[in-house]
Amino acid sequence: MSGRGRLIVISGPSGTGKTSICEALLAQLPGAAWSVSATTRAPRAGETNGGAYEFVTREAFASREAAGAFLESAEYIGERYGTPRAPIESALAKGRHVILEIDVQGGIQVAERKPDSVRIFVLPPDMASLRARLEGRKTEADEQLARRLAEADGEIATARDSGAYRYFVVNDDLDSTIDEVKRLIEQESGQS
Ligand code: 5GP
Repeated sequence: MSGRGRLIVISGPSGTGKTSICEALLAQLPGAAWSVSATTRAPRAGETNGGAYEFVTREAFASREAAGAFLESAEYIGERYGTPRAPIESALAKGRHVILEIDVQGGIQVAERKPDSVRIFVLPPDMASLRARLEGRKTEADEQLARRLAEADGEIATARDSGAYRYFVVNDDLDSTIDEVKRLIEQESGQS
């Protein structure tokens, strides 16, 4: 691997395609590592412990948080999410890129604590396509879906106002968005 490993933050409203972008980055960036977040939310169908997430109780989350085990943590629609610090430090020390798919509150904390991270916010082309995507993936009950859509405007405004994100990428075509994000990361890590 040439260049150095970077902490890469990918944020954006639920349904913007962040997860697909992160999966492509993991497959295509040599040596990239995925940060497995801890969360108190229930697993969706097909989600296994230790895959996208480590599923924990609120008590376990709180005691790890109190022990300083998280680089950042947030509450999103009533559930806790946090990024374990140790695996990130160890991957970065080996020169690997580490990919964090986290919400905007987490992105702001990482901007403060790891200013040399690369922070990218993924925008939907418009709100109608965001709704269509969320409805189409059928992973949430109606009430959850409405709450996620209701969050989106505020998340985008917070991302813009906070100054935590250097890059905003509109995901209207997944393949070109992946190429664009890869190009930004390579540019930031001195590989282009
Ligand atoms: P979901 O429940 O759809 O998997 O995730 C909900 C939101 O939480 C998404 O915006 C996702 O990026 C974010 N998220 C996932 N893991 C973390 C984390 O460790 N920290 C923070 N701050 N947000 C996270």
